Amino acid sequence: MTISQQYLSTRSSGEPYLSFEATVLRGLAPGGGLFIPAAIPRAPSDYLTKWKDLSFQELAFEIFSLYISPSEISPAELKQLIARSYSTFRDETVTPLTVLDEQRKLYLLELFHGPTYAFKDVALQFVGNLFEFFLQRKNAGKSENDIRDRLTVVGATSGDTGSAAIYGLRNKKDVSIFILHPLDKVSPIQELQMTTVTDANVHNFAVKGNFDDCQDIVKTLFDDIEFNQKHHLGAVNSINWARILAQITYYFYSYFTLLKKAGSENIAVRYVVPTGNFGDILAGFYAKRMGLPVEKLIIATNANDILDRFWKSGVYEKKAPGSDVETVKETLSPAMDILISSNFERLLWYLAREQLSSSNEEAGQYIQKWMIELKTSGKVIVPKQVLDAGLKEFASNSVSDEQTVETIKAIYDLTSGYIIDPHTSVGVTASLRHLDGKHTYVSLSTAHPAKFGDAVDQALQGKDAYSFDNVLPDAFKALKNLPKKVTVIEKPDKELVKAAIEQELKDEGIVF
Ligand SMILES: *Cc1c(COP(=O)(O)O)cnc(C)c1O
Repeated sequence: MTISQQYLSTRSSGEPYLSFEATVLRGLAPGGGLFIPAAIPRAPSDYLTKWKDLSFQELAFEIFSLYISPSEISPAELKQLIARSYSTFRDETVTPLTVLDEQRKLYLLELFHGPTYAFKDVALQFVGNLFEFFLQRKNAGKSENDIRDRLTVVGATSGDTGSAAIYGLRNKKDVSIFILHPLDKVSPIQELQMTTVTDANVHNFAVKGNFDDCQDIVKTLFDDIEFNQKHHLGAVNSINWARILAQITYYFYSYFTLLKKAGSENIAVRYVVPTGNFGDILAGFYAKRMGLPVEKLIIATNANDILDRFWKSGVYEKKAPGSDVETVKETLSPAMDILISSNFERLLWYLAREQLSSSNEEAGQYIQKWMIELKTSGKVIVPKQVLDAGLKEFASNSVSDEQTVETIKAIYDLTSGYIIDPHTSVGVTASLRHLDGKHTYVSLSTAHPAKFGDAVDQALQGKDAYSFDNVLPDAFKALKNLPKKVTVIEKPDKELVKAAIEQELKDEGIVF
């Protein structure tokens, strides 16, 4: 095993290191830290010639192999997992690159061609197959009367994560998935995407309450040691290392596409990423540290701008200055409505390790201290050299709802009819602010516009030749007529949810 195929926690960083399997199945490290590879592997020195012409799947294999030991997953098995994960995508190249403005060098990286039409599929299709692979191996050779290793995935969603997780785990052996959403408070399309999956192992709970209620219930279930141990609770939220890993591929892949287009190696590329929990853009950071010559990574937030405020001040603070409450703002880009960005801890670890510490342990101590500060006082102020080092690689922007709508309109006009979703629009707005003729900008497109019809309608209503019906893929139109599977939870109560989970596990035929 190479050092980069072993994992440590951002809050302890000591040996012994963990295997990839343990890292993926545990999700969160003990003590609240996040798992990171013990070292970031470099792409081979001749990666340009070796990797440039590979398919998305072949490239994923090369990249994943640097982080996963063949003694854990054999090359043949890994290839199979990758093939299966991306066979569900509608585009042959998985994540195609389109031109928005050739002259001003603005490109869009479309990440929404998976089963739920959002970028989270790129990671969650792979995570689902990984879970199944590890469980199958644990259960191999067991007889009918043996207790099987199982995972009961429980999560809360306000929309996007839920459907991507459900499509990643549907019909997977020895995994059950329970997704809690607030009844009547997710968009109709997202509600349909979740509840029309009727596989026996998929369970939708519509809770009479709001998203925070759902999230609180999930947290209390994980903290309930007896319940957790009895059902082997698992999480698929964006802190899982395998999700970050899976997202590295498209940075390399899109870079090679641009390189081949330009016919020269003299391109300076900046990636602009609509950001919530900092997972998507963190994958870009790993790509950069592996050796991909990314000139800069540009963060684009909506009005929930903790990251933008950080890069402008060095203060990581939950509440905006002048505001006296810590609340999430509801915006037109709801998948980015967050108070803090959980994956940002991983970047802080690297900055602390490189700027302040002489060992992994020491970096872990900084993170531990900062995260306690964040929890107790609501803010952390990092040393100036940490901020300065970060600013060499990152820039940031915050984008209002008005600007989000304006940009959807502007891009529609500029391209004679290409429609971007509001999350993508946050990124494109930031890109438009930066365009300089010198650099090539790749703006990441994280969702299909049909998923967020309100914002798109608001922007394009009344435009010639615009009709939302034309935006809707046939697959979405068909959802309305499909049978649904959903259990209404009458009030946001942990005990009600626990009872419903056990009932539905029994209905699945699971013995516990
Ligand atoms: C989750 C999500 C994002 C934010 O991604 P992070 O990895 O949390 O930064 C952006 N857009 C869409 C559509 C999403 O679903």
